Amino acid sequence: MSNELKTIDVKNRDERASLALITKEVDTLYWFLPDIELNVKLNIIKNPLFDRDMLDRSKYLEFDIYEIKDALLKTNLLHEHERAKIKKEVDILKKEKTKNDKILEAFCPLPWNHLGIKTNGGTRICCQMIYKPFGDLGVNVKDIKDINDVRNLPPVKLVRKQMLQGIKPKLCELCWTEEKSDLKSKRIHQNIIYPDALSQAKRYTNHNGEIDTKNIPLNYFDLRLGNKCNLACRSCGPTESNLWYKDYWTQGHRSIQVPDGLRQQEYELKEEDGQITINSNDFDWPDNTTFLNQILDSCNNIDRIYFTGGEPTINHAHIQFLQKLVDYSKSQDIFLEYNSNGMAMPESLLNIWPKFKGVGIGFSIDGMEEKFEYLRYPGKWDKFIRTITKLHTYHKSVNSVQVVLAPTISIYNCLHMLDLYNFILYSTPPWFGKTMPIHVLESPAYMSPKILPNHAKLQIKTQYYDWIKKLQLKGNLPGIRFGRSNNFKKIAINNMTNLIHYIDQTFPDPDQLLNDFYTNTENKDKQRNQNWKEVFPELVDVLS
Ligand code: SF4
Repeated sequence: MSNELKTIDVKNRDERASLALITKEVDTLYWFLPDIELNVKLNIIKNPLFDRDMLDRSKYLEFDIYEIKDALLKTNLLHEHERAKIKKEVDILKKEKTKNDKILEAFCPLPWNHLGIKTNGGTRICCQMIYKPFGDLGVNVKDIKDINDVRNLPPVKLVRKQMLQGIKPKLCELCWTEEKSDLKSKRIHQNIIYPDALSQAKRYTNHNGEIDTKNIPLNYFDLRLGNKCNLACRSCGPTESNLWYKDYWTQGHRSIQVPDGLRQQEYELKEEDGQITINSNDFDWPDNTTFLNQILDSCNNIDRIYFTGGEPTINHAHIQFLQKLVDYSKSQDIFLEYNSNGMAMPESLLNIWPKFKGVGIGFSIDGMEEKFEYLRYPGKWDKFIRTITKLHTYHKSVNSVQVVLAPTISIYNCLHMLDLYNFILYSTPPWFGKTMPIHVLESPAYMSPKILPNHAKLQIKTQYYDWIKKLQLKGNLPGIRFGRSNNFKKIAINNMTNLIHYIDQTFPDPDQLLNDFYTNTENKDKQRNQNWKEVFPELVDVLS
């Protein structure tokens, strides 16, 4: 293996593809020839070193893949008869591709293989469906006798039918908006994880979107085991965190509303000895229903479970459920995904995780130090650093945890993202994820960065492009070799460029929303004894 190849993680297809495109060493390009990844193959063809000998050794002329044939036509390596033949084949493949592309652009595996359970036990198609009617299935887990009974309800059948016709469902608007800005949507991510989902869906879905549940099993659950939480974040509310009850009560609310499709479900709040509680045990559904046992009994094909909140690290039902998965000998096949606020990391979790296939944690850290503490009240930055230190030791001995920061990007922190990205790239240990999934806040609308006035957006853009220029000139990331370093920097530049495109989109009635931002922020600041102008002076600057 050449020295150049040693600078990348050869198991990582993106890193191989990047090097195949830019390498100036013929031996390296020959080494890549047998690679089976399409992007690697395409980049080999695009590399100026690619020559007739490589073409003959690669069998590329025999591949019946539109992209490869099209790339070959752009080279000057083909004999006349080859060029004519490939041109004809490309025309035929192009027609088929156009039809398939339409479906591919709309298709997502989740309406087929996934079920989401909300904090109150409500069921839904997908947590990304954030606009009315939210993908709600209108059935609570307390009323479910058989999981398969909720898999062919009208809302999910309609989504499936549309996707297989190449129509992008309106319910999935968040994914389409993200993709418009070239952000990697959840849909794109799921298609990478479940590459065979489309062919299965085509085979086992009938014309009205109904599936054969035996042949399309549930693989992936999103389980929100109640709303018990240790934080009351700005971007959250009482449905997701019981620590919000008090603020809500102080604001004069006497009930909370949880959307259930087009209806609202109302839960009364009550005060007892200074404690604000709720008059329902729906939010304790893991203890009060048999649903988790139903999952254990009927789902032999689960390969992923996503836990979020409430805060999973302090949720006893979560740890008990993991133990049951171990006892039922299912744990070794399941990858656990988390969204956690990073304030706690109990030994019981660290001890049980190695029994699973793997663990991925996205820490919802939206800023550093006082910015984090403002947005994730009453969180403490030091506690998060302690969690990382604990995972550092754990990682050395177990090595089964992947960690990334997964901030929610709002009007408050959209400028601070650049510092946060520097923190990830240059101040975290090499095992820590060097990429940052982008989740931009859409609701409540007055917190969206898209409501910023144009003059503010212009200044933000200048700062982002300045940051990108500086990053290009910076050296390797600490402890990471050249090829990988370069790849992470490229991803960072891409992410931040796409984020800027996203922020640049318009929002209806931004002036009114900006007024709402000032009013709501200042009201909440009074309640919490905080001051956004002191914590986010850079935002004050661009707004002035
Ligand atoms: S396309 Fe997006 S919103 Fe729709 S089901 Fe997939 S991930 Fe969810």
